[in-house]
Amino acid sequence: ADRIKAIKSTLRVVPDFPKPGMLFLDITTLLLDPKAFKDTIDLFVERYKQKDISVVAGIEARGFMFGPAIALAIGAKFVPLRKPKKLPGEVISEKYVLEYGTDCLEMHVGAVERGERALVVDDLVATGGTLCAAMNLLERAGAMVVECACVVEVPDLKGRERLRLHGTPLYVLIESQ
Ligand code: 5GP
Repeated sequence: ADRIKAIKSTLRVVPDFPKPGMLFLDITTLLLDPKAFKDTIDLFVERYKQKDISVVAGIEARGFMFGPAIALAIGAKFVPLRKPKKLPGEVISEKYVLEYGTDCLEMHVGAVERGERALVVDDLVATGGTLCAAMNLLERAGAMVVECACVVEVPDLKGRERLRLHGTPLYVLIESQ
């Protein structure tokens, strides 16, 4: 609980980013604090090291800041889920709806095998749309998503409910506000 409190104190809220009227929760200030950064990774590793997870999938871009360290520590492979046209090999794609417009995530064909146990990692969950797209990619490849893990949850945006409907647990260290 002390570790969580200290991690929370490193986060900052930036008003009017990326657009006027929006409040952006910035996790780069967490990365500037080596103790808080290590505690963040350790908390996830403590939770997932005995869960038989073979693949950690990180969502571009901020899921790349936490996912690989977790994967290394638990002995799993890391698979990047990227925005369109970034991955050079053959991909599968999953479109999803945002507040304004749509977005898309892609995963390399062959990165994940049928029957693998996956953990999806991102920095923050709001509506849960991004995590659902990530889970769909892994499930289409035949993997089972054991859980989704984020540093921060924005609780009023119902991401947790959306993941419950999907049938996958959500684990977060911090609720914003
Ligand atoms: P969702 O799909 O759950 O609505 O939005 C979550 C995605 O948008 C994540 O990939 C997350 O990185 C990004 N995101 C949305 N709002 C914020 C924010 O305030 N701070 C950060 N760090 N990421 C955000």
